Amino acid sequence: MKCLGKRRGQAAAFLPLCWLFLKILQPGHSHLYNNRYAGDKVIRFIPKTEEEAYALKKISYQLKVDLWQPSSISYVSEGTVTDVHIPQNGSRALLAFLQEANIQYKVLIEDLQKTLEKGGSLHTQRNRRSLSGYNYEVYHSLEEIQNWMHHLNKTHSGLIHMFSIGRSYEGRSLFILKLGRRSRLKRAVWIDCGIHAREWIGPAFCQWFVKEALLTYKSDPAMRKMLNHLYFYIMPVFNVDGYHFSWTNDRFWRKTRSRNSRFRCRGVDANRNWKVKWCDEGASMHPCDDTYCGPFPESEPEVKAVANFLRKHRKHIRAYLSFHAYAQMLLYPYSYKYATIPNFSCVESAAYKAVNALQSVYGVRYRYGPASTTLYVSSGSSMDWAYKNGIPYAFAFELRDTGYFGFLLPEMLIKPTCTETMLAVKNITMHLLKKCP
Ligand SMILES: [Zn+2]
Repeated sequence: MKCLGKRRGQAAAFLPLCWLFLKILQPGHSHLYNNRYAGDKVIRFIPKTEEEAYALKKISYQLKVDLWQPSSISYVSEGTVTDVHIPQNGSRALLAFLQEANIQYKVLIEDLQKTLEKGGSLHTQRNRRSLSGYNYEVYHSLEEIQNWMHHLNKTHSGLIHMFSIGRSYEGRSLFILKLGRRSRLKRAVWIDCGIHAREWIGPAFCQWFVKEALLTYKSDPAMRKMLNHLYFYIMPVFNVDGYHFSWTNDRFWRKTRSRNSRFRCRGVDANRNWKVKWCDEGASMHPCDDTYCGPFPESEPEVKAVANFLRKHRKHIRAYLSFHAYAQMLLYPYSYKYATIPNFSCVESAAYKAVNALQSVYGVRYRYGPASTTLYVSSGSSMDWAYKNGIPYAFAFELRDTGYFGFLLPEMLIKPTCTETMLAVKNITMHLLKKCP
């Protein structure tokens, strides 16, 4: 169990400070991501009328903003909280426009590069190399996460079994951890994190979940019950290529990395690529859009691999949980239409209890409800697909925060975010073990 320890020695605690100090002393020290976000801003506006919304959509399109929320410019209408990341060279034009049109706005992040470098998502090697002191309170690169998975597979063979369900577009293995006491004919819960590359808190939560399960299996009766009666299939990084790219090139990359034959833009939104009302409302047919649905359903090898796995095991899988950021919401089907699911009362009560459990830790409130009415209508999502394919409990979490840091949630908030989320997930899982269809 040594590798699950979270306390660092005093000497280890000094290492990051020393590193930072050395970095500062170095003449002309390099910036993360080649300083490409210097002077970029994140601006929030909430259009008061449809006219304002129209004008804002137009300028956002013209200036090619990177939309943080909602996921598509088509969702912007009266009252929509809209966060845009605008490059330095466009921010003057956008601010001038907003002032001239007398549209209220708020600058959420003044200098994205500075926030990025300050927020702790430094690409240091703070306790990342050694697995015996694996640090769950920092963000990890894909390589580190995969090494960690291999390590747990070796050291916790009684409760963990690791396997691959296929390969990504760029040829990376799609690894899954099967967690639970070995037994035949057990029901299962599927958990995936990191469908969208830039939402780094997702993979951090998946790792946290595994750590907590292993650490508390012996001491916590609820956890013991869960691991004895269920298997958890955990995919810490769904979109491996995109996640890797968000570490090496573009921190705010969302999609996969597949190439398109006709356009230079790469990637498909892996949460619009599923065969459930595919490429309808809330998805884009244009390869350069962040919500591009792909050339056909399951065009992305990552989506196809997970869909195949779920199809094969759907009789045993009772719940599908997918982790995203940011909005602080717990969503259930449908996403693609305004309609009530057949087992609404069971799902709704599970969600209600889960958000209350979550709130009990630090008072953080999550909104909950059908994705279509709570967030927005989107077609081709994994949650709807799982539900439509016979998994009775399908949820999507939108983790912290509500936009103060957005995708740059600082590492110091990993622990509180994961601690409260853990309670919600345990709550949902315990709910499954009771009799509700
Ligand atoms: Zn997402």
